[in-house]
Amino acid sequence: MKKVPDSDTDRLAPRFDVLADQTAFPCLTEAEIADASAFGEKCSFRENDVLFSTGDKPFDSYTLLSGRIRIIDISTGERVCFVRYGAGYFTGDIDLFTGRPSVVTCEADTDVEAIRIKPADLREMFVRKAALGERYWKSFQRRRQLLLQSHFCGLSIYGNRDDKRTVEAIELLYRNCVPHVWYDTSLEENVSRLRRIRSDINSYPVVTQGANFVCDSPTRPELADLVGLRRKFPERRYDVIILGAGPAGLGAAVNAASEGLCTLVLDGLGPGGQAGSSSRIENYAGFPDGVSGQELAHLSYLQALKFGVDFVAPCNVTKLERTDDGFYKVESSEGDCATGRTVIIATGVAYNSLNISGLDSLLGVGVFYSATKVEALICKDRQVHVIGAGNSAGQAAMFLSQFTPHVTMVVRGDSLQKSMSAYLSDRILANEKIDIRFCTNVVAVEGITHVEAVSLRNEKGEITREETCGLFIFIGAKPRTEFLPSSIAKDAKGFILSGPSVADLPDWTEKRPPLALETSLPGVFTCGDCRSATTKRVAFAIGDGALAVTCLHELLGTYT
Ligand SMILES: Cc1cc2nc3c(=O)[nH]c(=O)nc-3n(C[C@H](O)[C@H](O)[C@H](O)COP(=O)(O)OP(=O)(O)OC[C@H]3O[C@@H](n4cnc5c(N)ncnc54)[C@H](O)[C@@H]3O)c2cc1C
Repeated sequence: MKKVPDSDTDRLAPRFDVLADQTAFPCLTEAEIADASAFGEKCSFRENDVLFSTGDKPFDSYTLLSGRIRIIDISTGERVCFVRYGAGYFTGDIDLFTGRPSVVTCEADTDVEAIRIKPADLREMFVRKAALGERYWKSFQRRRQLLLQSHFCGLSIYGNRDDKRTVEAIELLYRNCVPHVWYDTSLEENVSRLRRIRSDINSYPVVTQGANFVCDSPTRPELADLVGLRRKFPERRYDVIILGAGPAGLGAAVNAASEGLCTLVLDGLGPGGQAGSSSRIENYAGFPDGVSGQELAHLSYLQALKFGVDFVAPCNVTKLERTDDGFYKVESSEGDCATGRTVIIATGVAYNSLNISGLDSLLGVGVFYSATKVEALICKDRQVHVIGAGNSAGQAAMFLSQFTPHVTMVVRGDSLQKSMSAYLSDRILANEKIDIRFCTNVVAVEGITHVEAVSLRNEKGEITREETCGLFIFIGAKPRTEFLPSSIAKDAKGFILSGPSVADLPDWTEKRPPLALETSLPGVFTCGDCRSATTKRVAFAIGDGALAVTCLHELLGTYT
């Protein structure tokens, strides 16, 4: 059992008072404690024992019977007491469900007696004691909000904005809602800060947890392993494997798991898909003030976890095949393999790149295909260019104008109204920070370690060179369906065919007609942007995901 030296516990005044927020810190009644006890085992600790430490994975929840504990945040480099509480309260937060390491440390303030409940048993409690489970679940979510609103930093990432690995690391953490702070090492104060933690720095990014060095120069998969995002596919036969965790995949996951289907979701980056790169979605019902795509994705992801979905990301699916016993096998580029009775393909679309030489080498260091807070911070206070005239280009321009002094939109046609929603084009035209170049194309990009300038050609053939630090490209998209077997029929542009349109294809070998969202490979369904002839919108994708689940219930005979 780890122990804290006595001197470290002196005069740690808590940052947060439990009585100030009873959703975050509910005190259970005796009857509730008795109910919770059935899902765990009794244990005891001596004063200053460590119940779990920052970085521990997995860790358990403790419902306190006597004594008092303190929650310690070490992310700022100092030991800070976040909160203290005693009998009737319980420990834990959402990472009990994400399966990621604990972001805080829990220490016994006095001798303690408690009920230890493992994450799998908590989930069982949510099913069998729904009202009690709800108190735990709500408190876990609220605690994370409070922690993020406090001085808590999570992981610290040190690296330059021109360093690809640093940008990749920040993007991965952002997309997966892993709390972190980025220290830009082009600023001397951040280099000095890092030197106080480690003097010999050879490569970036450097990852620290407060004052503790964690690692340097991790690749994306290494970082994903380190923060507990990636794991081997759990060994079980799933009712459904969902490829992609954009709105369609998440919509399908929430519906499938809430209706009792054993569900695995795989995604190449993390929850959100294209919507995760949208700063503000204003046409999704129920959010009159709009909602960021990241927030919508994170809430759907938590909802899916609550219903018991297994989620693995980053994980790139490269192969899908039907096995001899009628199941489906899915393989990833990381070498993992999962089996399911059915599959839902929700892999969406990828934005087209501009056909300009040298562009690929600047990807992530000035050339971007999304405009989230990560990219906005990289380009903060500097001039940027947005290429395209659709809603995604418009949203990117509006969002970036909050961070940069000047945004130039480069538009091939002669108006915005033809391709953009009226509310958005009106706002762009009224925004003094956004300048629009109509009938103009990008013809060259300059920069070695980072984008420095673009050359634009107008309708008269005149070429102008403009300095820029970011080229945000939103010029149409192609479906991410290239890895699928030829038995899954697609339209001329690569979007997946489904339902009645596959009934007469030679690939369709079943005697029954295909279900609405079934592909030409029986038992494999598709939904969202990668499906042929769909409306490319968040609400549609989520609804399509739900419809795919209805179809597979029909096939499996599990509809109730
Ligand atoms: C910047 C921007 C702003 C937008 N704003 C709005 C808006 O305001 N309102 C609106 O209604 N719509 C908006 N859209 C469109 C909307 O986001 C999409 O219609 C929606 O995200 C489609 O959802 P999807 O799940 O079908 O696909 P996607 O969102 O594309 O998600 C597909 C997912 O599949 C994963 N994936 C792909 N291939 C693989 C593979 N081989 N292995 C594992 N995972 C894989 C990807 O990583 C991704 O997470 C916007 C789009 C963009 C880009």
